[in-house]
Amino acid sequence: MRTPSADKPAEACGVCGIYAPGEQVARLAFFALYALQHRGQESAGIVTSDGRVAHIHKGLGLVSQVFNEENVLYLQGHLAIGHNRYSTTGGSRLRNAQPYLIETALGPLGIAHNGNLTNAPALRRDLLDKGVGLVSSSDSEVITQMLAGSPGDTWEERIAALMTQAQGAYSLTILTREAVFAVRDPLGFRPLCLGHLNGSGWVVASESCALATIGATFVRDVEPGEIIRLDENGVTTWRGAEPAKELALCIFEYIYFARPDSVLEGHAVVHRVRRHLGERLAEEQPAEGDMVIAVPDSATAHAIGYAFGSGIPFGEGLIKNRYIGRTFIQPDDRLRRRGVALKFNPLPTTLQGKRIVLVDDSIVRGNTSQPIVGLLRQAGAAEVHMRICSPPIRHPCFMGVDMATRQELIAHNLSVAAIAQHIGVDSLGYLSLEGLLDVVGRGGSGHCLACFSGNYPVAAHSGTGKAMFEP
Ligand code: SF4
Repeated sequence: MRTPSADKPAEACGVCGIYAPGEQVARLAFFALYALQHRGQESAGIVTSDGRVAHIHKGLGLVSQVFNEENVLYLQGHLAIGHNRYSTTGGSRLRNAQPYLIETALGPLGIAHNGNLTNAPALRRDLLDKGVGLVSSSDSEVITQMLAGSPGDTWEERIAALMTQAQGAYSLTILTREAVFAVRDPLGFRPLCLGHLNGSGWVVASESCALATIGATFVRDVEPGEIIRLDENGVTTWRGAEPAKELALCIFEYIYFARPDSVLEGHAVVHRVRRHLGERLAEEQPAEGDMVIAVPDSATAHAIGYAFGSGIPFGEGLIKNRYIGRTFIQPDDRLRRRGVALKFNPLPTTLQGKRIVLVDDSIVRGNTSQPIVGLLRQAGAAEVHMRICSPPIRHPCFMGVDMATRQELIAHNLSVAAIAQHIGVDSLGYLSLEGLLDVVGRGGSGHCLACFSGNYPVAAHSGTGKAMFEP
């Protein structure tokens, strides 16, 4: 269930993979997933292997809701993969929870996938035509079955064969009886990095924050097009596919998805990039105000940057309930009407009579900005000037972020002036695409900007979206 006040681009997933002889590998995977919780809150799962048998546990909910001492102890072995899910294809159902684990001619096969295949409908049809049965509506199951049925006597050959057919975004961790593999698509849409764990252990994870949490040292990013194998021989790597000339890391990793303490593209600390984006926004979109506040917590670093750049003091005007994430308890009608008030409370003592500059990282559907502005005005704000640390989102995403139709995007339907009127602010300003690229692009190696520019790095299939395979 989406929280009552969510208007953010929703991420596809977080993945991890661990080879750690002599360690309680499921416990390490649990804490890696715990660190990646921000990437998906709908389901979580871990598969382990002890070299003979594979074990699995997965369920709907947060990592801390799905796992307990008992089921972590059941997950024996020295190899593990893990997954946090936000559904972008397939609904929020247990049968769509990952990792997938199946038995194949080469032994057990577990798959955890972050991303979206843009040619999933055609690949799915191929499998069905060949008589392969599918139990879920997720494109990740398509990947699992393609690997199981690919030509090749080794997993390396099968993964390389998959990479010749799959299009779009895929950062994968794969568990077999004897090894963990990490695979990244040739455009590098989603992040994936490698870390070293005490002595002979190795870890791959969507973000470096997961490595730090379990005491692993960041080594490097998994390269676009690369296949990495982790086992008793350490790290072995192959070029599974040629990396694209123009890479396409999702720029929203910098704006919103990644945790502020993660490092992207081997060098960029996300928190610092967000501060610089805020400074640039202050230059481009100045405002007459008494205090800069953030829509917490995701826009805090951007707002601090804006305050620094503008010289207007930063303050706290909204307090967020940090524990609202995901709940199985639906609000009743009276509580639902309170909308964003379930998530944010204003601080009247700091807002009273002030001209507020409200900084947010992005606006997707526009359904929460209006009530947040309403909260500020009720708490006594004299003026509300909203500044957004990304350009207007006018185009859908087909690469694994839950904004797959133009109609749902407020900036596709309305001009900036009309959006300002709709959400009830005194003024509204967005960061320019040039500003975003000047800040993020420095030292970067190519980013997907499609939801801002409409220029897609891969052919977009309008039939791809969260519910495309739902009955
Ligand atoms: S379209 Fe936008 S959200 Fe989707 S991958 Fe590209 S930059 Fe990220």
